[in-house]
Amino acid sequence: MSVRVLQRLDELYAIGGGTRLAYTPEEDAAHELAAGWMREAGLEVVRDDVGNLFGRRGAARVWGGSHLDTVPNGGKFDGALGVVAAIEAAERLGDAPLAVVAFRAEESGPMGSRRLTELPDSFLELHIEQGPMLERLGEPLGIVTAIAGQARGSVTFEGRASHAGTTPMDERADALVEAAAFVLRVREAAQGGARATVGALEVEPGAVNVVPARVTASVDARAATAEQLEALVETIDFEPAWRQDPIAMSGPPLEALRAVLPNAPDLVSGAGHDAMVLAAAGVATAMLFVRSLNGGVSHSPEERSSKRDVDLGVEALTAALGRLAAVVDE
Ligand SMILES: [Zn+2]
Repeated sequence: MSVRVLQRLDELYAIGGGTRLAYTPEEDAAHELAAGWMREAGLEVVRDDVGNLFGRRGAARVWGGSHLDTVPNGGKFDGALGVVAAIEAAERLGDAPLAVVAFRAEESGPMGSRRLTELPDSFLELHIEQGPMLERLGEPLGIVTAIAGQARGSVTFEGRASHAGTTPMDERADALVEAAAFVLRVREAAQGGARATVGALEVEPGAVNVVPARVTASVDARAATAEQLEALVETIDFEPAWRQDPIAMSGPPLEALRAVLPNAPDLVSGAGHDAMVLAAAGVATAMLFVRSLNGGVSHSPEERSSKRDVDLGVEALTAALGRLAAVVDE
């Protein structure tokens, strides 16, 4: 049934072979292709000043969509599935008043969704999970209840540079050994679905025969609620240089997904999305996740979802958008 959806994902992937960076000719070509599909679906194509693409029908207070740009050497489904599925849903919904949107430059910002000059009443984004939870649960679809908050910063450890050959072990002040203990504490601190990562270390002087004098460790901490994020930051004991509060999915789009998928599991998205930007701007927003295979690998050509799961996702998106646009099929 969604053969066409998968064919269209192949067509998009053929542009640049999985590399469609923001505001490049490849992203432009993907938008051109999607604009044609929007017209075929009976939508009126418009673009805003920053290049976001809309296929509109009627009042269009309800939007569905995602992005068409990718990371370098990205996968076939990230972003593209959300746009193609929304076009498919719009076509199936006949004359329901809604808009399909393809945002610009999600992977490098998000930039496009941050620069909207007009906002809808409701936004619904279908996206692949990009993680292993649905695969582990044996569920094809999940309802996102929140996008995790993030706190980022760094912690510096001071030691004393000395000769690796002549300084006795019990006389060293080794900053990297302290940092190593910290990395383990960060790992321990993330409990109950929270995530915490040290992804970058700067070691000074950084020579094989010198005891490290100074190490700076990055920290990326994420949690589903503001309280959990605060507790995580306190447990790790670092000063965030940047913080993004968790954002709850809410309102009619979330209710529509729950009505359509009463048994689907709830998930928290660890990744940010255009949906995060719209929700933060005050739009009632929800997200539908489609199971990722291969252990949830994403931002990679190994990204996979099954045809059956894509079918189910398109059906659920269609039903939920239909409810939101108040033209539910009886
Ligand atoms: Zn994406």
